Amino acid sequence: MRTYENFIAGEWVAARSGKTFQNTNPADTREVVAQYPLSAREDALAAIAAAQAAAPGWAATTPPARGRVLSKASQILESRKAELAQLLTREEGKTLPEATGEVQRAADILRFFGGISYTLGGQTLPHDLPGNLLFTRREPLGVVGLITPWNFPIAIPAWKMAPALLAGNAVVLKPASQAPAMALELAKVLAEAGLPKGVLNVVTGEGRAVGGELAANPAIAALSFTGSYKIGHQLHQVLSQRMARSQMEMGGKNPTLVLADADLDLAARLVAIAGFGLTGQACTATSRVIIEKSVAEAFMQKLVEKAKAIKVGNGLHDGVTMGPAVNEQEFNGNLEYIGIAQKEGATLIHGGKRLTAGDLAHGFFMEPAILGNVTPTMRIALEEVFGPVVAVMPVENFDEAIAVANGVDVGLSASIVTRDIKKAMTYAERIQSGVVKINQISTGLALQAPFGGVKKSSTDTFKEQGSGAIDFYTRVKTVYLDYSA
Ligand code: NAP
Repeated sequence: MRTYENFIAGEWVAARSGKTFQNTNPADTREVVAQYPLSAREDALAAIAAAQAAAPGWAATTPPARGRVLSKASQILESRKAELAQLLTREEGKTLPEATGEVQRAADILRFFGGISYTLGGQTLPHDLPGNLLFTRREPLGVVGLITPWNFPIAIPAWKMAPALLAGNAVVLKPASQAPAMALELAKVLAEAGLPKGVLNVVTGEGRAVGGELAANPAIAALSFTGSYKIGHQLHQVLSQRMARSQMEMGGKNPTLVLADADLDLAARLVAIAGFGLTGQACTATSRVIIEKSVAEAFMQKLVEKAKAIKVGNGLHDGVTMGPAVNEQEFNGNLEYIGIAQKEGATLIHGGKRLTAGDLAHGFFMEPAILGNVTPTMRIALEEVFGPVVAVMPVENFDEAIAVANGVDVGLSASIVTRDIKKAMTYAERIQSGVVKINQISTGLALQAPFGGVKKSSTDTFKEQGSGAIDFYTRVKTVYLDYSA
């Protein structure tokens, strides 16, 4: 078992109360993975004070100097990839290849923002009069708060932290209690890369006490949150009350449309990866397949074959392609949703049962589930499940497919499988979604491209990722200079 402490003012410290909590391995709950401080408001206040003290010094450094720290951190992180991926799998449950990919992604994000440090500038504009200069400066906000979920415990902290730090802000991060190890390891890596004390602070513990303080405290100029709509909505209210900048990135109910002309082998492969990969615990996971009736049966057979080929088990073991649900609550939620769908008239076509053979009895394992005959008003068609459960919804035609796809109150990622370029582009125009994938999985993002949802998936004012991620973490000042006299 590892023992972690909070990272405040460059020091590793226990919660002031001395209280701790432990996390167990979702693949084998007999194993305690790590122990963390069960922090309270007083610990959040200490972290905010440390960030306030460090912010002016960090803001006074140049973007290339800050970028060098991020680039160095990228190298250190990459050199520790194998060890951290093991730990990530043991704490969150995703398979080792998935965890290795995620640690690499975090290293790439740090490298990307290290690189663009040389381009972090303002704009020069033509002035109406000769002998005048008109330009903008990008300035940091001061202290920013970050609150992250458990499902990408290193990629999401990295994709918020890197632009925040590059912009010259000091940061207080509150990672999800289910998987805080990676955020604390990132802090270790950044400290080793030369980040000054107090510029990054990480506090673990109860969401309401620590995260709530980050939303309410007037010293926090902006808060970027990724997680559930329920919490994101609450935090946004608190932030808007005090007119602080708010970036809330929340859940999805992501559709993959399969049109009659599609390559059905490709469609089944894409849905199996995007629906069951990462145990369905991705905000961009495919949870609805909206398919033209004429090909529904043929597609279903192929998807069932793909689901049968998935090897469920401990993500550290060779050949395992799907790990456990992250905890008992999520696991029970998945099974409950399958039951609710059946009660509402859906047919369980495949899977959906708990797996208990041998060592599997000690983890939260289930077969990937496929539900058929799902109609647009069923709860399974409207609410995020966040597990390996795919609902197949037959429709008459393309227009109905788009109407069904848009008939939810969220919009994060949306795929289509078709050979018809006109329909693909029409979909890209008409779908209410932040990301559109054509003949690709709904999961998987390019770190250099903007990411964010629409409707209840996001506050939708700033995008994350790509160079535009900097916008949330900076303010623009306009300077008028007259040198004509
Ligand atoms: P969650 O329950 O909303 O928790 C997210 C974070 O908020 C955690 O750090 C949590 O801390 C904290 N928190 C909980 N209650 C709080 C409160 N009252 N005040 C302040 N902070 C509080 O979400 P989750 O279960 O970790 O993550 C799953 C959700 O995230 C899904 O809906 C998924 O779709 C979404 N997600 C979205 C994206 C995206 O980019 N759009 C990406 C990944 C995931 P504790 O852990 O201590 O409770």
